[in-house]
Amino acid sequence: MGDTAGAGDAASTGPLDLAEALDLLPKVELHCHVEGTMRPGTVLELARRHGLALPTENLDELYSYTSLNEFLSIFWLVQSTLGGRDDWARLGYESVVDAAAHGRVYAEMFFTPARHLDTGQRLADIVSGLADGIAAAEAETGARAMLIADIDRAFGPAPGLQMVTELGELRRSGSPGIERVLGVGMDSTELGVDPKSFTKAYRAAAGFGFRLTGHQGENSPASAIAEVIDVLGAERIDHGLSLVDDPELVRRFAAERIPLTVCPNSNIRIANAFPALAQHPYPAMRAAGLLATLNTDDPAMTDLDLGYEYASVAEAFDYTFDDMVTIALDGVDATWLADDAKHALRTRVTAEAAALATRMD
Ligand SMILES: [Zn+2]
Repeated sequence: MGDTAGAGDAASTGPLDLAEALDLLPKVELHCHVEGTMRPGTVLELARRHGLALPTENLDELYSYTSLNEFLSIFWLVQSTLGGRDDWARLGYESVVDAAAHGRVYAEMFFTPARHLDTGQRLADIVSGLADGIAAAEAETGARAMLIADIDRAFGPAPGLQMVTELGELRRSGSPGIERVLGVGMDSTELGVDPKSFTKAYRAAAGFGFRLTGHQGENSPASAIAEVIDVLGAERIDHGLSLVDDPELVRRFAAERIPLTVCPNSNIRIANAFPALAQHPYPAMRAAGLLATLNTDDPAMTDLDLGYEYASVAEAFDYTFDDMVTIALDGVDATWLADDAKHALRTRVTAEAAALATRMD
């Protein structure tokens, strides 16, 4: 870990309120899509450079949606502005810098290259570009980030296996930046997709030594979540909302401390799964003993940051600062850091939380 505290050095003399303290609290994030962190100004600039038409040049309007389908169409538009290695490097850099400004000190971030590979970009360039950008941001902020290569379910099992095979080859050959890629996951549509159809890709990823996670249970039943753990061998579940429908599975996940990377505000702003934060099952998940972490999903595209995510959840569910520190520490437990690095990060979060508590009302 670096020794700067993201936003922790911000000049503030008066007592901190809860939202300010949570913004400054060192936090980790395990569910964030790097493409969904692209600044609107960068989208505009890259679109112009690559001759892509945008539906609007008004930066406030670009990231506003009336439906999930509209979100997905804008998401693809944003992805399509990434024309090559330099663009990925810029994205990686800006993503880590922007998150560090809200106290994010460590992340395991998704990138989903299926569409880019389909249009002829090289996986090696995407990985090395992202890795270069992240390294530059780390040097500047002290925050750290690693990567998870996500299979895009919409493309089907064969391109998923192909991507994993290429990742394995990059790892074997020591391709530049490949050490940033810790794991493999999957995202995009869940409806009508059998998670078991990705068994070959997951087995191959495990064979290459990648850690495993997967988006499930945002739009699919609890049984699909169980399959991602038991059949695909994933160690974490991204979202996992429908788990609460199966009390027995909830007890098992709680007992085995299987992490869920939950994104409450995203579930409302993108998936419209609940009318408001107050209806989100997050507190029920925590009360059941689940290791349910807090994350932003696609923060730039939904006007979110991790500090706001923590503050809004605290406000909606009446959580104290100490409750939120417990959630932040659960985030550390859910990372794929080595045990000594986890221990060091826990110590840091605990110490900085104690210092922040003395500055609160
Ligand atoms: Zn996601």
